Amino acid sequence: MNKLYCFFKLFNKKNCCANYHYKTFQDIPFSLLKERGIKYVISDIDQTIVSQSNNLLSDSMQKKLKEIQSLFGKNSFCLLTNEPSTQRTDYFNLFDIDVINSQKDKKPCINAFLNASHYFGENITPDAICFIGDRVFTDIIGANNAKMLTIQVDVVDIQSDSFITSLLRKIEKIYAKGCSYSNQN
Ligand SMILES: [Mg+2]
Repeated sequence: MNKLYCFFKLFNKKNCCANYHYKTFQDIPFSLLKERGIKYVISDIDQTIVSQSNNLLSDSMQKKLKEIQSLFGKNSFCLLTNEPSTQRTDYFNLFDIDVINSQKDKKPCINAFLNASHYFGENITPDAICFIGDRVFTDIIGANNAKMLTIQVDVVDIQSDSFITSLLRKIEKIYAKGCSYSNQN
C-alpha cells in the first residue's frame, strides 16, 4: 500500500526516463562514471543482476561486480531490494556485497533510496551515487526523485517475470517511449 502511495505521489512522466540505458549491467562503463564524479553505486537485484527470484550470479556478473568493488571500494557498493530474504543476503555476503532491505519504505519511496545511501555514510550527497535497476516504476522513478544518477538496464530473463510484472513492464515501456539517452561508452 505504501509502495502504491509513493508511486502516485512521485509519478511524473519526466521521472520515467533514466539518465542512461544499457542492454545489460555488464555493459555499464563504471570507470567512466567514476571519472565523471560518481563515488558510490547501488543496484537493484531481481532482473538487474540475476533473473527473478534466482540468487545465482553468472560468472560474467561476478566479474563485473568485482570490477565495481575494486574501482569504488567494497564499502561503496551495495544492493537494494524490495524482496529481502536471509538466504539471498547470505549468498551476496559471500561476495562481500551487502544487501539493504527496504522494509517500511519500499522502492519507489524516496526513503528507501535515502536509507540505502546512509549505508555509505551520513553526509553523502545523492549526486555522488549511481542507481541501477530494470524497472521504471520502482527503480528509476524513485532514484530520479532521490536525485541520484539513474541507469536502466534491460531485464535479465523476461521469461522469469510474473504475470503482473510483465504487464507493468509493458505499461512502463509506453511511459518511457520518448526517453532519449546519450550513453557514455
Ligand atoms: Mg528489478
